[in-house]
Amino acid sequence: MDIVNSCDPQGPLAAVLEELTQSAEIIGLDDRTLQKLRHPKRTFIVSIPVLMDDGGLNVFTGYRVQHNIDRGPAKGGIRYHPDVSLEKTVALSMLMTWKCAVVDIPYGGAKGGIICDPADMSKNELEHMTRRYTTELIDVFGPERDIPAPDMGTGPEVMGWIMDTYSMNKGYSVPGVVTGKPLSIGGARGRSKATGRGCVFVIREAAKREGIELDGATMVLQGFGNVGSALAELIVPLGVKVIAIGDVAGSIYNSGGLDIAALKRFSDEAGSVVGFPESEPLDNGDLLTLDCDILVPAALEGQINDCNAADISARLVVEAANAPTTPEGDRILNERGIVIVPDILANAGGVTVSYFEWVQSLQAYFWTEEQVNLRLEDVMTRAFENVYDEAKKRDLDMRTAAMTVAVGRVAEAITDRGIFP
Ligand code: NAD
Repeated sequence: MDIVNSCDPQGPLAAVLEELTQSAEIIGLDDRTLQKLRHPKRTFIVSIPVLMDDGGLNVFTGYRVQHNIDRGPAKGGIRYHPDVSLEKTVALSMLMTWKCAVVDIPYGGAKGGIICDPADMSKNELEHMTRRYTTELIDVFGPERDIPAPDMGTGPEVMGWIMDTYSMNKGYSVPGVVTGKPLSIGGARGRSKATGRGCVFVIREAAKREGIELDGATMVLQGFGNVGSALAELIVPLGVKVIAIGDVAGSIYNSGGLDIAALKRFSDEAGSVVGFPESEPLDNGDLLTLDCDILVPAALEGQINDCNAADISARLVVEAANAPTTPEGDRILNERGIVIVPDILANAGGVTVSYFEWVQSLQAYFWTEEQVNLRLEDVMTRAFENVYDEAKKRDLDMRTAAMTVAVGRVAEAITDRGIFP
């Protein structure tokens, strides 16, 4: 079931195709390459029967989409969420292709997901569903083929089950088949906070260029999960005050800045930020339009759209989530001079450290957390510079510039390889 969003009537696939077409025009891409990039390379739909704890059988639907593998193996997260759909999975797989290209790591793009509500399932049910999904896709996944990672509703535990199921089928341990797995089986130090940390590096670079003094700047954050909570923790030492945070259950506000460490302890216990003692409650509908310097959507798609973009007051929007801004929302923010650091750049820290994890798994040689974080900083600041320079050179907004850099790199690989046969 897909939720129809009247503020995002187009949906995410139309949006990513529109961005592709626009960037193709700017760089003068030939029509053959554009046609290839408009279509996912391979799409898999699987039925996943699971014996539930009550003795009944539920048949879940799962997807895996590989958009492109011209620059390297397919790479992308697996999402467990009721709103997973084939269309969204295709859109998110394309974003992965651009994301890997914009930070210049040797991967193509993929995405997967299962339509389910993990909050309503037991650990036993989740494990069985994960193992059956992996088995159905056993010939699709592989360290040289397609490497899953966590996304919404999945984390290290699910990655551990995927790695184990794949390894049991092969007859030997294959740690390189997934990233974002637990440290004990080859996970990378620093992976769990990598997406949030990467966002902090791009916020730092964007603030420098846009003349925003971070010490004392205010931030509003939507989403306090893996990405949002790490980002909040790591931005506070730079002097930023996180004045409001929202999650699926509601939002909270404190004009003096929320105590992020205490909030993390609270939300880990309570399952939500709502009810945090040192805060006032806030309606989720009012969160994104609060007065602030930096707005960070770190939850779902389509959150900044034609219904609310005119009321957003931030100077800088940093897309920690995938596709949080609709094309119409994007147009309105651009017209109003609000700078947007796009998702394919802003949240690429996760896939970058996933790449580091994969390299370490293949070599069975592990880096310190300091090495991981330094290399992440290097990749993210270089990617930001590339995109910023492209934006200045061609007089583009940052989203279009990130797309022209990414599409240009993928197109070059396609040209160099040629079209098979
Ligand atoms: P998560 O499941 O850990 O957290 C999601 C957060 O969003 C939770 O706080 C949840 O309550 C909140 N949320 C869900 N629905 C909401 C709603 N309707 N309104 C307000 N808040 C809502 O997920 P995550 O891993 O932190 O991912 C967040 C976003 O970042 C997603 O768009 C994901 O695709 C993207 N992303 C994640 C990674 C990663 O490494 N985890 C990497 C790149 C991009």
